[in-house]
Amino acid sequence: KRFLTCDALPHRHPDLCRTGFWWNELGGVFDMTRDTERVRDELVATLLGLWDHIKNHCPQCRDLARTWELEWFGWVPGKRETRRLLGDHILTELDLVEARPFEDAVAHGGWPIDLHPPWGIYDREPPALMLPLEDIYSIPLRALYSRNVENLLFAGRCASATHVAFGSTRLAATGAAMGQAAGTAAAMAAFRGCTPREIADRHIRELQEILLRQDQYIPDLAAQDEGDMARKAQISASSEAEGCEAASVANGLTRHRRGRTNQWASGEGQPLPQWLELRWPQPRAVGEIHLTFDTGFARPLTHSQYPSTLKKQVRGPQPETVKDFRIEAWLDGSWRAVARITGNYQRKRVLKLGHLLATEAMRIVVEATQGDPQARIYEVRVYG
Ligand SMILES: Cc1cc2nc3c(=O)[nH]c(=O)nc-3n(C[C@H](O)[C@H](O)[C@H](O)COP(=O)(O)OP(=O)(O)OC[C@H]3O[C@@H](n4cnc5c(N)ncnc54)[C@H](O)[C@@H]3O)c2cc1C
Repeated sequence: KRFLTCDALPHRHPDLCRTGFWWNELGGVFDMTRDTERVRDELVATLLGLWDHIKNHCPQCRDLARTWELEWFGWVPGKRETRRLLGDHILTELDLVEARPFEDAVAHGGWPIDLHPPWGIYDREPPALMLPLEDIYSIPLRALYSRNVENLLFAGRCASATHVAFGSTRLAATGAAMGQAAGTAAAMAAFRGCTPREIADRHIRELQEILLRQDQYIPDLAAQDEGDMARKAQISASSEAEGCEAASVANGLTRHRRGRTNQWASGEGQPLPQWLELRWPQPRAVGEIHLTFDTGFARPLTHSQYPSTLKKQVRGPQPETVKDFRIEAWLDGSWRAVARITGNYQRKRVLKLGHLLATEAMRIVVEATQGDPQARIYEVRVYG
């Protein structure tokens, strides 16, 4: 294939030398299962044609690419869309656009509906039509198991969605969230000796609680885990920022949403260390503490080559995240450190004490963050 002039690549050319050529695609008009080799051959030809264009014909790229070498290219074409399976529910465009709530919601997505034209690189239309969504949307368990094969669960590319809804659900991170839900449902079904449909019909709340405990995000669904002793504690802090009260760490929600922060943040201008305290009327036997920190989800962190997107990102640990902290327990009339973590950059930390500790109060003492002057914690859970 030859692309001798820049006009031969309408709508595609401007990004060519800086952001790659994700739009070198083909197959919408073929049978994506049976025509694999034909599509592969054609795509290798267009890929080499693009390389020839960059090196030899393009006035914009030629100089920039003077010292570039073609080191490697993938030989197995990635399939953006192939066959999908039918679940009890088929996720539709309106489910996404209207962010419809589902009783059996187990995951979420949020990428725009991103549709690519059938003729791919040869299409005269732009390479992608992006329909932004106003809100994130829920994905029900019924879209993750088969309607007619009793013991089959699925997630990601083959989940039950229309072509248009799939324009958003196919994203890697959304697929991972579906995988978490489908895998957990499979384990539950095996444990209970029941079908995935029975999980959706009879045990959905139990599945959702397990997912929330493992930091799966299900839009607007608050955790109500009876085994979590933090829910019964009186919660206070060394200081509080407005709208970020200490009690938020046990409200069951773990992200900024609908104007609420759902997190504790220490007061502005208050120097670290800052602490958050949980106190019970009688001593509790504590064995495990779950902490959910802020990893800056308010800021985009997508894998992208676009300079405009990269500019908005912090590459590395996110400044809001708690870095160094210790857990203290009230033992024999004084505070004693029972665990200390340094260099944290993760959102969810589960601390297993290795034994049961009888205490009537615990403190999480934040010593340092990854840059933010305030300590921030979304959620604290305490288990025996
Ligand atoms: C060119 C391209 C660009 C993309 N760009 C982006 C992007 O920028 N951002 C984004 O979020 N998403 C992007 N996507 C979409 C995203 O990558 C996919 O939708 C997602 O990776 C699908 O994940 P999956 O686990 O469902 O399927 P896959 O990643 O396809 O995984 C299925 C796996 O099953 C294996 N398999 C198949 N049959 C069998 C079998 N019989 N036995 C055992 N194993 C088997 C396959 O080898 C494969 O490893 C892109 C996709 C393509 C093709």
